[in-house]
Amino acid sequence: MKPTQVYAILGYPVGHSRSPAMHNRAFSELGLDAVYVPFEVHPSQLAAAISGLRALNIAGANITLPHKTAVMALLDRVEPRAQAIGAVNTLFWEGDLLCGDNTDAPGLAHSLEEAGVELANTAATIVGAGGAARAAVVGLAQAGAAKITVSARRLDAASALIQSLQNPLQQTRCTLTTCDMGDLSSAFKHTDILVQATSATLGESDAAHTFAASLPLAALPPHATVTDLVYKPLETTVLAAAKARGLKTVDGLGMLLHQGALAFERWTNCKAPIAAMRAALIES
Ligand code: NDP
Repeated sequence: MKPTQVYAILGYPVGHSRSPAMHNRAFSELGLDAVYVPFEVHPSQLAAAISGLRALNIAGANITLPHKTAVMALLDRVEPRAQAIGAVNTLFWEGDLLCGDNTDAPGLAHSLEEAGVELANTAATIVGAGGAARAAVVGLAQAGAAKITVSARRLDAASALIQSLQNPLQQTRCTLTTCDMGDLSSAFKHTDILVQATSATLGESDAAHTFAASLPLAALPPHATVTDLVYKPLETTVLAAAKARGLKTVDGLGMLLHQGALAFERWTNCKAPIAAMRAALIES
């Protein structure tokens, strides 16, 4: 009899992750004999943990902070998309090879598409220059965006981000540019999709309100969509302000859901039960 298939998420810390709830719900929904387990792995133990995954024949895994970059050197192959982003969030087997991919980038594109947002030939503005912003640039460029402007409180971080992606994204023909946060009004005038990719909207703090108030959302055209990658709370200060202006909004849970769905499909070859996975995320 085939043993129960074991999947894992490695992070430090990892207790907050909603992925176990999402994937275990998907396995039970499809009647698969599989389980998804969180493992808290100290950075000094990452190499040993990856050897352990191999030895135990773990069927697939997710990698979360702070291991997304460090894990790349421990794999047999890394997909070009993950190489461009410089981060891996999904491990899978190809024969005996342990491979890494990044499903955050297409996860954002799928989330927007599911909400009915057209991505081809659009102009997007991304606020933030960390790992999530990087995945957003790759996801939107590969989904057909014509122009992406990256804005961050440290303009040098935004410049470094787009410079490092110019070559990997050359084939997409997407124009990458930066904008000082003080000049966002002019960038917003020509923005179809605004992606809030900083951690400034986490929680309900005064700082989160101040940050939302600092964005000149009134300059966005009426057809623009605003998405916030932060999903705690589900309606962030930026999404609330965008809604108040009558703009279409997409919450960050969709990206989490769709990166998980893409990993699930890669691991199991089954269509991901999206509705059940979303319900598990909301309940967890
Ligand atoms: P990083 O720490 O890598 O980057 C955070 C970014 O936010 C940096 O550019 C930082 O600027 C900027 N920032 C923080 N506070 C402020 C502020 N007050 N004003 C302006 N900029 C600010 O984090 P990640 O990129 O990994 O993640 C960002 C957020 O995205 C997280 O909060 C996470 O919850 C969310 N996320 C959601 C995912 C999903 O599936 N929905 C997936 C991944 C992340 P500086 O460098 O100057 O500090």
